[in-house]
Amino acid sequence: MTHEPPTPRAEPGGDALRAAAEAQGAREAQASVHPGFPGALEHELRVYQIELEMQNEELRRARGELEMQNEELRRTLAELAAARDRAEAANSAKSSFLATMSHELRTPMNAIMGMTHLVRRDIQDPRQAARLDKILNAAEHLLYVINDILDLSKIEAGQLELEDIDFSLRTMLAQTCALMADAVQAKGLQLGVQAGDTPDILRGDPGRVSQALLNLLSNAVKFTERGRIDVRAELLDRDTSGPRLRLSVRDTGIGIAPDQLARIFAPFTQADPSTTRRFGGTGLGLAITRRLTEMMGGEVTVSSEPGGGSEFALTVRLHDAVASSVALPANTLPALEATVRLRGGGARLLLVEDNPVNQEVALELLRSLDLRVDLAGDGAQALQMVQNRAYDLILMDIQMPAIDGMEATRRIRMLPGYRQTPIVAMTANVFRDDIAACVAAGLDDHVAKPVKPTALLAALARWLPLVPEAAVNAPTGSAPGPTAQGHTGALASAQQVPPAIEGIDSAIGLLNVGGRLALYQTVLRRFAQLYGDKAPDLQRTGAAGDLPDLRRTAHSIKGSSATIGAERLSRMARTAELANDDDLPASWRALLSELAVVVASIRDVLH
Ligand code: ADP
Repeated sequence: MTHEPPTPRAEPGGDALRAAAEAQGAREAQASVHPGFPGALEHELRVYQIELEMQNEELRRARGELEMQNEELRRTLAELAAARDRAEAANSAKSSFLATMSHELRTPMNAIMGMTHLVRRDIQDPRQAARLDKILNAAEHLLYVINDILDLSKIEAGQLELEDIDFSLRTMLAQTCALMADAVQAKGLQLGVQAGDTPDILRGDPGRVSQALLNLLSNAVKFTERGRIDVRAELLDRDTSGPRLRLSVRDTGIGIAPDQLARIFAPFTQADPSTTRRFGGTGLGLAITRRLTEMMGGEVTVSSEPGGGSEFALTVRLHDAVASSVALPANTLPALEATVRLRGGGARLLLVEDNPVNQEVALELLRSLDLRVDLAGDGAQALQMVQNRAYDLILMDIQMPAIDGMEATRRIRMLPGYRQTPIVAMTANVFRDDIAACVAAGLDDHVAKPVKPTALLAALARWLPLVPEAAVNAPTGSAPGPTAQGHTGALASAQQVPPAIEGIDSAIGLLNVGGRLALYQTVLRRFAQLYGDKAPDLQRTGAAGDLPDLRRTAHSIKGSSATIGAERLSRMARTAELANDDDLPASWRALLSELAVVVASIRDVLH
């Protein structure tokens, strides 16, 4: 309900004026709540409008800013995508660079070291011999550094893949210690190895476990002047997939100051820069050990006191083995020889091989390792022999006349007692399909021809029956490991340099027979005799045009010529073997004339 404002009473003088002013004030007050006072409204509207405009302006600015930010975001995203593409490209470039570098660096190093070894063995003059030893030492050190740097880069580029194979923990420990045995002896230290109640046959990457441990062990030797080093394997616990082990190396060496302990696992770090001058080293060993260990689900720890020695330990999670055969961490000839001796003591082998040259090479190599070896000249003979006597391992040539290696293996597998016997193929065909066929026939493994001593010994070391008692258990104070006593095995050599023979790379041939010159010469003579005598037959075979026969013979020449280092002849034999029917006769003629050259030059040189 609205009330009219009271009408002022008309009073004379000042009162009347006051009343009129009050009435005016009241009207104005009313005008602010009621429409009908355009001046004030306009004013207020303008205020609102101005405010609105200001807000609009603000909004426009904010939108502009947002758009700029959006634009920036788009640019950043595009830059990020480009950076990611660049990083991916760089990463793949880095991996292929690493792979190339690795090959480019290691290949010449192998040649330098291999050839220096060969020359060193035949040198009589002590001054020259000492110089060659220095070359060898320097080359070994260089290879060591190269390997470390490549390994670390590979790990950091995420390129290192761990193997997952069955191996013997005790053999791995023995071989790792054997690698340091000379250095331990030279410093007059004592080395003890204990594997306690750890399981022996495990699954994992033995090479990488050994590498991680070897870094610790070589540091222990390097930083210890007197006293002893103890390598120990302990079982920590196990879960459903397998055991967790602790591998430790304790020394009585110089120790490490507490403030330096935290830093020593970083790459290129040494506790004390003066150690570099005193002991040498790259500062990469511990960094690699730590990264390898972490990749294997473990960690590295250290406890040390200056002057009181150090203990480095790593833990690894390993798996239970799935097979009864084992792989090996080391593949150098002396380490493999040592392992074959360790595993093969008293084992009896059957060598099935029809090529006389290859027979000789393999027999010599195997017998020099104290293995008892019988020879079967073909598949049929092998079948007979395995029924007369039990063999621990059979080496089976694949391409043989009549009953070939596959067929012989299939039949042997059906004989009582031969279901599990390791049978290792020796074959020139190493393509995936051929290997699959070998596996299907019941062969356990294969060695590529021409058979290299390291490859053959690695296969033997893997497949010879295990001799658990031969495991490492070096009594306190004695240097462990089968090579600790400096066994030179097949590398003990004759005194002359390999003969220079037209068409033959003697260095390759010599390497193929384990560096043994006397054996190499016998094999060369044997080759010349065999193919010299056969020459008229080979001519007739060519004239008769029996193409399958020509291919078989070419295959056989390919194998034996590769073994003696007659590379060109071997290549020509391969060309003939693979030639189509039209080209085969011409390839065969070319092959025979090269064969005649090689035979004549062997006879020339060796009489
Ligand atoms: P490197 O031995 O090549 O210098 P590492 O990464 O293997 O590199 O070791 C880093 C540093 O840690 C060494 O330089 C040394 O100072 C210290 N160190 C490692 N192991 C031992 C040890 N057993 N005793 C004393 N110091 C050690």
